[in-house]
Amino acid sequence: MNDRQSRAGAAAIASFLALAAMPSLVFGVLIAVHDLSVRPGLRAWAACTIAACCAGLLLGRDIGVMTALIRGLAANPAARPARLMVPGMASLGREARHLLRAERLGRTRLANSAAEDRALVERLPDPLIKLDGAGNPVWRNASAAAIFGAETAALLRHPDLRAALAQAQAGGAPVRQGITTAAPVLRDLDATIIPVGGPVYLLLTDRTRERALEKMRADFVANSSHELRTPLASLIGFIETLRGPAADDPEAQQRFLTIMSEQAGRMQRVIADLLSLSRIEISEHQPPQDRLALPPLLARLIAGMEPMLTAADTRIDVTIDETLPEIPADADQLAQLFTNLFDNAIKYGKRGGRIKLHARASTGDDRFAGGGVLVSVIDDGPGIPREHIPRLTERFYRVDKGRSRAVGGTGLGLAIVKHIVNRHRGRLLIESTEAAGTNFTVWLPN
Ligand code: ADP
Repeated sequence: MNDRQSRAGAAAIASFLALAAMPSLVFGVLIAVHDLSVRPGLRAWAACTIAACCAGLLLGRDIGVMTALIRGLAANPAARPARLMVPGMASLGREARHLLRAERLGRTRLANSAAEDRALVERLPDPLIKLDGAGNPVWRNASAAAIFGAETAALLRHPDLRAALAQAQAGGAPVRQGITTAAPVLRDLDATIIPVGGPVYLLLTDRTRERALEKMRADFVANSSHELRTPLASLIGFIETLRGPAADDPEAQQRFLTIMSEQAGRMQRVIADLLSLSRIEISEHQPPQDRLALPPLLARLIAGMEPMLTAADTRIDVTIDETLPEIPADADQLAQLFTNLFDNAIKYGKRGGRIKLHARASTGDDRFAGGGVLVSVIDDGPGIPREHIPRLTERFYRVDKGRSRAVGGTGLGLAIVKHIVNRHRGRLLIESTEAAGTNFTVWLPN
């Protein structure tokens, strides 16, 4: 006999004695006070004791069934109990089943919600890192792994971040701190440190693009003011001179007025280009709807360039594929785009040189996304050094400031070209060979 069986046997004997105790006590007292004679009293005692024991046995069996049921339900919620004998036990069984089902459902819901929370945190676009009380990383989401990779440890050593971590842990409240990291690339980050009892969560928001845009905007305002301030200062200076020292010098007056007219013209061009740029930017998110055939537009523009070409002693070779497909385009904006490219080719090309204009259908060139038209404006000028090419479409970026000003440039022509190309969902490719020339190719999809 094992331990469990002997314990069950002892419990059964104890239950039997407990069940027999009450009728024994009652009948013992009744017989002792002569309310009941001994023989019938013993018979009644025996009957009651047997009845109590039978009831006890049935109850014990049902309790056993219920215990097995509850244990079984935890593993198999569909388990059905064996038949219960004692009235009322069946409803107790039902209640137990409901209770267990509700508890099981609650646990499943809790597990699902925890899994959802984990998936959400894992897929957060911002990097999230969990640190233990000592500041060591114990977990990070996919974005943190992708952005910081092996550099997480270096990031966590950032002195400003460490100070903010200590502050958050000491105060028990979230702390925000801006940090700039040099590796793996230069980044401006907003770190939010959230202490949650022992561990600490570190949420990083990348502000690099935003800060770069803010800087670009500030630079743009500064550059625009500078572009206008210089000719304006010159105009004011000449006005003073005309009023004072040159008041009676008609020859100097003529000379100064010529310069003043040039300066005013420069201001006018800068303002016109700034206005164009802002108008194009406003419409940039809406691709043009009208369909346009390019050949007549290009022919009209080339005819309009004649005086400039003659003045620069430059020839133009035109090859326009007559089967060019029509494209969705804003005619005014494309006129401005190609005028800027012809203008540059004439301005920066070789004097007495040759410009080529090629317009052909594109059926999916490796460098471009697909079908449409490709227009190349090629000059045989001095070319552009390689390091300048990626920056040419920045506002006010010039390779040679003096030359640009001397030929009446505003530094905005290619920025305008880029925005027009963007609005048309096209692409601009600049290829240049020093001392050989430059090729500006525009791809516009159909
Ligand atoms: P800009 O008004 O100064 O011409 P752009 O934005 O049109 O301004 O051009 C930016 C700079 O790119 C110019 O200042 C010039 O240095 C260079 N550039 C543009 N087109 C050419 C070209 N065809 N050949 C050589 N350099 C060019």
